[in-house]
Amino acid sequence: MATTHKTRMLIIGSGPAGLSAAIYGARAGMQPIVVQGLQPGGQLTITTDVENYPGFRDVIQGPWLMQEMQAQAEHVGTRMIWDTILDVSLEGPPFRATGDSGDIYEGDVLVIATGAQAKWLGVPGEQEFSGKGVSACATCDGFFYRGKKVVVIGGGNTAVEEALYLTNHSPDVTLIHRRDSLRAEKILQDRLFAHPNVKVLWNRKVDSFVGEDGKGLTGVKLIDTVTGEESLVETDGAFVAIGHAPATELFKGKLELDANGYIVVEPGTPKTAIPGVFACGDVMDHTYRQAVTAAGTGCMAALDAERFLAEHDFKAAQAAKV
Ligand code: NDP
Repeated sequence: MATTHKTRMLIIGSGPAGLSAAIYGARAGMQPIVVQGLQPGGQLTITTDVENYPGFRDVIQGPWLMQEMQAQAEHVGTRMIWDTILDVSLEGPPFRATGDSGDIYEGDVLVIATGAQAKWLGVPGEQEFSGKGVSACATCDGFFYRGKKVVVIGGGNTAVEEALYLTNHSPDVTLIHRRDSLRAEKILQDRLFAHPNVKVLWNRKVDSFVGEDGKGLTGVKLIDTVTGEESLVETDGAFVAIGHAPATELFKGKLELDANGYIVVEPGTPKTAIPGVFACGDVMDHTYRQAVTAAGTGCMAALDAERFLAEHDFKAAQAAKV
């Protein structure tokens, strides 16, 4: 039978943003419920080595970090529920969410931390060598390719920024793009073209990622989109940078989304246009997209949620007196 779960603070999403909101929310007495979603722990659960999350001198594993974050959130009083939200009603408070299980979740505040997913090419070898040479995040994994040869696939701002970032580590960066011009901003293009460590392969699409068992990725097989000619580029690392898709399907028509589908918040805050509804992490941030920045905005959401509830409760108490 369907159950209704009521809480002061309902959090959708269990990556670093959602769990940080939960840790702060629980410690502020809001007894949060976190509905975990299809990928409990978020994007970090599909990465391996993490070297840029502060507090750990040695390399740690993404899935382990998320288990620890979840345990910490539970330890301070968060209730984790494994369900996938299929519908939300933002006419609150209370705000209501309906799960795949049929259960209803009601929160006096709602924190949206549904994250984003890197887009993948979907070609042979991509999944096989994911984490073994194929990555979607240069800031996360670029360091592992010090002195090595890398390629970046894509032609937007992300691809160009990733290529430029990789020049900090690699003397040999190749950008592979399917057309003969980039869509990245001109200033980024100028920097890219001027960089001595970067070359660009135009009009090439990736046919497949190739490698060897045990050795990981060794190359990328390309097809010339004009001539149809096939070629193989040897490489140690390949960074797929063809965009991200924020998980905002649930909120279309209910919250303002930007042209790329990210939730619009009041600048510098996690506040959406609906009082009591907050968005944090990658679902509202297409610029930084780091675990540590997601955790930071999760904390901000909890602090603002606490202030919202204090004000809301005060007004309700005043109204009850009249
Ligand atoms: P974009 O959608 O801007 O670019 C995606 C790129 O990947 C395009 O060049 C596209 O090619 C290519 N691509 C898409 N699918 C495929 C495919 N299947 N095979 C090969 N290539 C493919 O995504 P970004 O992540 O670069 O940027 C997203 C948004 O975030 C943009 O608005 C961007 O401006 C913004 N952003 C801003 C930054 C900043 O201001 N510093 C940094 C990063 C992003 P094609 O050009 O042929 O369509």
